[in-house]
Amino acid sequence: MTPSSAAVDGVPGVTRVALPIEVNSIESVNMYIVDDGAQVTVVDCGVWKPDRPDGGVSVVQEGLHSAGYDLSDVSRLVITHAHIDHYGLAGRVMELTGADLSMHAMTDLDCQKYRHPDTSMSQRRDTYADHGIADGPGEDGEHLTRWMPYLHSVVEASTRLRGRETIAIGGDEWTVLHTPGHSLGHVCLWSPRRRLLLSGDHLLPGITPPVTFERGFDADPMLSYLRSLQLVHDLQPELVYPGHGRPFGDPIGRIEAIMRNKMRRMQRIRRAVQDRPTTVGELTDKLVVGSMLGHQRQLAINETLAHIACLRYAGLIERRIRSDGVYEWFSTSDEPLEVTRLLGADAGPAGAPTE
Ligand SMILES: [Zn+2]
Repeated sequence: MTPSSAAVDGVPGVTRVALPIEVNSIESVNMYIVDDGAQVTVVDCGVWKPDRPDGGVSVVQEGLHSAGYDLSDVSRLVITHAHIDHYGLAGRVMELTGADLSMHAMTDLDCQKYRHPDTSMSQRRDTYADHGIADGPGEDGEHLTRWMPYLHSVVEASTRLRGRETIAIGGDEWTVLHTPGHSLGHVCLWSPRRRLLLSGDHLLPGITPPVTFERGFDADPMLSYLRSLQLVHDLQPELVYPGHGRPFGDPIGRIEAIMRNKMRRMQRIRRAVQDRPTTVGELTDKLVVGSMLGHQRQLAINETLAHIACLRYAGLIERRIRSDGVYEWFSTSDEPLEVTRLLGADAGPAGAPTE
């Protein structure tokens, strides 16, 4: 595969096109082409390529051709979540096709962030200061700074999804599942007839999807994520078409492995807090590998913040403010940390934005 071409495969009526990305260590993102008679629905669309005369549209066009369609046939674009690797080209695709853009209503928050990236980065620096994280990434390592050039424009949903809707595409009924966690406005598309899930970044092969805390977004993203995993688990899918990588079977095994992975990490963080009151800055020094690249380190820190929020709302830890103004976390309960207990709690702020 050359960087300008895309790998293509699929099942009848659904074609997977792996679009090259090559930003922040992300090789490619999957665009799915779902046949809808003479028209076509596209799920996720990759990034705007600022160094290409056409911005990367020709790779999308080639993918559509491989499925027997043309850009002008696109009537609907569904974005699983508004991270730039899935959404960056959406504005250009809409300009060229006039297609409907279906996204979850909560992606408004991502749009706001892209409209005011400097505010978002200042807020992150505030968060890091509050948590005693001294060595936040510099401008170069800043995740958002590196992504912004790959966003063509900020476009909002023309169809605002809430979850549980049914979308009819090519004689199939697809159910919209709101699956917050990796992103507050994340949706998966579920075909009960095919037992097939278009999972976006909710379920990925090989890697555990990052779940990160960011002020103004989900107050308890880790619990949201665990609940969203359980939601998909209960549907008993057989095949997953993910946002990155190859399609895979045994989704239940994958979900259980991801849950174990997240719980193991949360357990380590909880034990460190039980050992002695600690700050997220200290936890980071202890648990996050120092040699990580800036943006990977930032992801790891933001995931630690997500674990801390989950432990806090589960009533297992609490914070106090040290004399230097930094939040310090201490243990408030010796109850065991179990995923069933977390999932059993029906209250809490998970799935709603922080204030
Ligand atoms: Zn993502």
